[in-house]
Formats: sequence, C-alpha cells, structure tokens
Amino acid sequence: DCEERSFLAPMNKNSKIHKVIGVVSGKGGVGKSSITSLLAVLKQREGYRCAVLDGDITGPSIAKTFGVEGTQIYSNGEEIIPAKSLEGIEIMSTNLLLENAEEPVVWRGPILAGMIKQFWSDVRWGEVDYMFVDMPPGTGDVPLTIFQSLPLDGIVIVTSPQELVSMIVSKAVNMAKKMNVPILGIVENMSYVQCPDCGKKIFVFGKSHLQDVADKYDLKILGQLPLDSELTQLSDMGMIENYSSDWLDEFEEKVKNF
Ligand code: ADP
Repeated sequence: DCEERSFLAPMNKNSKIHKVIGVVSGKGGVGKSSITSLLAVLKQREGYRCAVLDGDITGPSIAKTFGVEGTQIYSNGEEIIPAKSLEGIEIMSTNLLLENAEEPVVWRGPILAGMIKQFWSDVRWGEVDYMFVDMPPGTGDVPLTIFQSLPLDGIVIVTSPQELVSMIVSKAVNMAKKMNVPILGIVENMSYVQCPDCGKKIFVFGKSHLQDVADKYDLKILGQLPLDSELTQLSDMGMIENYSSDWLDEFEEKVKNF
C-alpha cells in the first residue's frame, strides 16, 4: 500500500480539496465525460463547491460541455488558474491549454500522466468540496498511473449496455480493487430511449444486464440512464448546466450520499 501511495502527486499549497471522485469506463464514447459533468452539476446545485479535472487528455470534452472552450487561462509561471463555468464550477482541461482545440493530442503515456499530475498539483483550485475526475478511458497503463497519482476517494463506473456483456466491467472492478479505491457504484448510460408521446421505454439494445453485473461484482446501481437528445444538444452548445429531467432527479437521489 505504501508503495502505491508513493506515486501520489502533492496537492497545490493553495488548494483544499475535500473529496475526489474518479469516473471511469472501459471504452470511449459511453458517456463518461457526460456523467462526470452531470455529477458536478448536481453537486453544485446542492450548494457544494465543485471542480472537474479533465483527465481524458487525448479526448478532452469537458471544456466544451461547460462552454468554457477558448477561455483565456492565467498562470503566474508557478500556478495555473482554472476556468470557471457560468454556475461557478472550476474546470481544467487540455483544451484550455492548446492553441488549436482541433489539433489532436499525440503525447505518449508518461507525458499524459505527468500532465494530469500537473493538473492536480499546479492548478490553484482553492477550496473544493467535490472534485470529479474524468479519467482516460480503459484499464491500461495510463489510467493505472493516474489512479496511483491522485488521492481518489472513490470511483464511478460508467458503462454502455453493450459493455455490460463483455469483460470490461470486471477489468475496471479489478483495477479499483488493486488500487484499494472504493467503487461508489455503476451507471448504465444510453440504456433506452423514451417515447416522447406515450412515455414507453424502448430498450434498443435488448434486455439490460445491469442487475446481473451489479450482483456479480457487488456494485451499487446508481442509474440506468436514457439516450436523451436534449442532453447531447445542450452539451454541444456548452450549456450542460441548463439540463434537467426526471431521470436526472432520480440520479441525484442516488448520488446524494457521495
Ligand atoms: P466518453 O466520455 O465516454 O467518451 P461522452 O460523454 O463524450 O463519452 O459522450 C459521447 C457523446 O454522446 C457526446 O456527444 C455526448 O453528448 C453524448 N451522450 C452521452 N451520454 C448521453 C445520453 N445519455 N443521452 C444523449 N447523449 C449522450
């Protein structure tokens, strides 16, 4: 355990971060960044000071979702001041550092891990109740190094219906267990679509395997979330903080005790 913890990046001297929650997924595109953002939005609405550290260095999307892409980031050479969303959520992402957001990030593993350590250590976060970390997708070397470098208090696993029938969840569970980080629960995203007229839920991928997987690994189910075009649209417009829905209210209940 000591050896694992020796990788920990030091906290910035002007920051006090009370709780750090990582959001992981087996693959990209399942909604990990969206869930990370929504968690911050929900906790911020509850009155907590929130921050999002975009650890998905090569596929950063947090800045865009919160409408802060293109924001000027300030640094005094020692510390970086994070961007702030309209509602006051602090954000740090590679997008904010690159001159051209369309340029692909092609850095290798060690640089990526170093970058995330810097996001933790060199950013002046101030006092934060909940920091949500959008982890790089997958369970390979880079996510593992990041797991080791941040003092995570817990992780949330985001999956798609398709992932629930593969080995991906077990890999994520194993990674968390190896690192001794508690798993707060599992989310199935893009599980169904709801008919806007009659309200019927259509499970486009067939019967969900969420309950089976949760039972198998003893995971708490935090939500089975629909594919909702309004969420996509608001995210694309950088206005995720304006999103609300019945399913989000249910999700909020499940994450109240984080
Ligand atoms: P990941 O971080 O896993 O790569 P994202 O959160 O970036 O995935 O989501 C991929 C795309 O799908 C984005 O355009 C996002 O807005 C959209 N998306 C994610 N979850 C949902 C959902 N429940 N309903 C509608 N669109 C969604």
